[in-house]
Amino acid sequence: MIKNKKNGELIVVSGPSGAGKGTVIDKILKIRENTVCPISYTSRPMRSKEVDGVNYYFVSTDEFEKKLENGDFLEYARVRNGHYFGTPKKEVQKLLDDGFDVILEIDVQGAKQIKEIFPNTVLIFILAPSIKELKKRIIARGGGENREQLIDRFKTAYKEINQLPKYNYVVVNDDLDDAVSKVDSILTSIKCRVDRIEELDLNTIEEDIHETLVGLNQ
Ligand code: ADP
Ligand code: 5GP
Repeated sequence: MIKNKKNGELIVVSGPSGAGKGTVIDKILKIRENTVCPISYTSRPMRSKEVDGVNYYFVSTDEFEKKLENGDFLEYARVRNGHYFGTPKKEVQKLLDDGFDVILEIDVQGAKQIKEIFPNTVLIFILAPSIKELKKRIIARGGGENREQLIDRFKTAYKEINQLPKYNYVVVNDDLDDAVSKVDSILTSIKCRVDRIEELDLNTIEEDIHETLVGLNQ
């Protein structure tokens, strides 16, 4: 009766660093089939607990700029301290074509670029319940941030929260399971959107109604 599009959905998740985006997305990937979060490239230094090829592909500024010139990125941005972050273009296109729902965990500048290229992209913003809690989480995560770096993070967080009205959904990550369940529901609702219908076979529906009516008259 209804045939849905075979390609996957593109979803952007943004929010201040430390809000819990990575933690929520990790849980979502475990509970949702066919949902992936491609690994971005960055020129920022690796934190002690991070692994190259798991958290990011860590490259030098030169290597990043070469890839940029090559047109390898779907979007990119310079986030805090001018470090580059970028989404690999070919990989995302292939994942979408293969029917995977693709979650991009990117900053607000990247979200804007993605929305221009793919207007159907759904934008989700994740917030910590308070700035005090955000500070606690950044410190708890480790990474050896000094006072200046923390100040820089909060300035960036302020700029990012200013962009929240441009997003489609906002999820406050207070209780983790509750936040995961909300994001899961948003992703489920996206799959039911009318603009996902590729074909609505009205002829078959008409024939079925006709047959049913004939049956009723017997
Ligand atoms: P982001 O990806 O937004 O920068 P992370 O996912 O790295 O944030 O989370 C930052 C820190 O906060 C991590 O130590 C993580 O374990 C913790 N965290 C995430 N969600 C919650 C939550 N709901 N309650 C308490 N701590 C959380
Ligand atoms: P960090 O990893 O240093 O905590 O945060 C990096 C910031 O860059 C986060 O806001 C994160 O969402 C964003 N980011 C990560 N990967 C990408 C990317 O590929 N593109 C863009 N535009 N932002 C990214």
